[in-house]
Amino acid sequence: MREILHVQGGQCGNQIGAKFWEVICDEHGVDPTGRYNGESSDLQLERINVYYNEASGGRYVPRAVLMDLEPGTMDSIRSGPYGQIFRPDNFVFGQSGAGNNWAKGHYTEGAELIDAVLDVVRKEAENCDCLQGFQVCHSLGGGTGSGMGTLLISKMREEYPDRMMLTFSVFPSPKVSDTVVEPYNATLSVHQLVENADECMVLDNEALYDICFRTLKLSTPSFGDLNHLISATMSGVTCCLRFPGQLNSDLRKLAVNLIPFPRLHFFMVGFAPLTSRGSQQYISLTVPELTQQMWDAKNMMCAADPRHGRYLTASAMFRGKMSTKEVDEQMINVQNKNSSYFVEWIPNNVKSSVCDIPPRGLKMASTFVGNSTSIQEMFRRVSEQFTAMFRRKAFLHWYTGEGMDEMEFTEAESNMNDLVAEYQQYQDATVEEEEEGEYENEGEYET
Ligand code: GDP
Repeated sequence: MREILHVQGGQCGNQIGAKFWEVICDEHGVDPTGRYNGESSDLQLERINVYYNEASGGRYVPRAVLMDLEPGTMDSIRSGPYGQIFRPDNFVFGQSGAGNNWAKGHYTEGAELIDAVLDVVRKEAENCDCLQGFQVCHSLGGGTGSGMGTLLISKMREEYPDRMMLTFSVFPSPKVSDTVVEPYNATLSVHQLVENADECMVLDNEALYDICFRTLKLSTPSFGDLNHLISATMSGVTCCLRFPGQLNSDLRKLAVNLIPFPRLHFFMVGFAPLTSRGSQQYISLTVPELTQQMWDAKNMMCAADPRHGRYLTASAMFRGKMSTKEVDEQMINVQNKNSSYFVEWIPNNVKSSVCDIPPRGLKMASTFVGNSTSIQEMFRRVSEQFTAMFRRKAFLHWYTGEGMDEMEFTEAESNMNDLVAEYQQYQDATVEEEEEGEYENEGEYET
């Protein structure tokens, strides 16, 4: 067995994490008491150990650790629909809160609670047959998921250097939140994620808001609406890890297919069909429609337009009963028609797979994971917001007051700007450019 250990931290991390478990419990036929109550399908149970421990009495218990610096969100999870499924000892929380301050999560309040979290993580890891890695759900804009989340990631990396580290990271947007220091918290987090995470699924509240508002016509999207999109995406992204299949069947294979350069591990994810809560049963799409939508900028959970950059790599997971041949044809078709949007120096950089089990309420769906240089647009947005304030040292005292040095802000800012520059560099790179020397004297060579 190749187990994954899930950790959720902070308000956002716990809210999206709780939804994730609701959705995958349903897909695997696990009821709120942890009992298997499914369609007696081998597919549901074949790889159940990737995300669940088997407890006495045949109960399935999520391999999940829940942490927060205040008790509120975790109390709601405990009293929510699947609250009783989690191992009670795996709830680790404080009382102080992080006040949307990354420094409190990373250096002060969070640092005090981190050993308690690591104890639980260690206990779960020791129970595993062969742990493949971790997945962490958190927001980057607040204090706990962001500051303490990245502290935990660095500690786990230290203790388990050869295990994979996947994150589901929610990027902040002023459209959704009105806390002004979020660009600080996000930039400080990105600085950590570049170094200590292997793969990051980017969930950008700006894009989630736009999808709710423009496509789903929700006039005032709530976190519940945003999180519905997130849980559908998380279920889609992890589908290859949870059900039998060949493509991207573990965290390392996913990374090998998608990451040509180690720092460039921030993925754009897309989902089709987009549905609002409660509406999905009306939507039924064909394979060509799913393919078309999945590649559409409007379906990306990240506010960046893929047509402003190029794909280094991409993977698509289709779900439901459909013809693999048709999927392959449609995917080839997209690439042929849009070849300029794929770097030509990585041949066969798009992979696809089909999983028989569709998500609840849909006959077919598809999830897209792309490593696109256009993601720099989102980093630029955060960077601009960061720099506007940092230039005047606005709000800095909240961080220096917790013992942080201004230097860490400067380093985080330049690390993120370097990341943007690296994306740009590979966006501009062409085969011709590199081979120019060889062909210089051959008059007939045409680009
Ligand atoms: P923490 O508890 O200190 O980690 O802080 P939060 O998780 O509340 O972080 C604040 C950021 O997360 C802001 O950018 C919020 O817009 C975002 N956020 C908070 N809750 C949710 C949620 O349930 N869903 C989404 N998509 N974003 C959230």
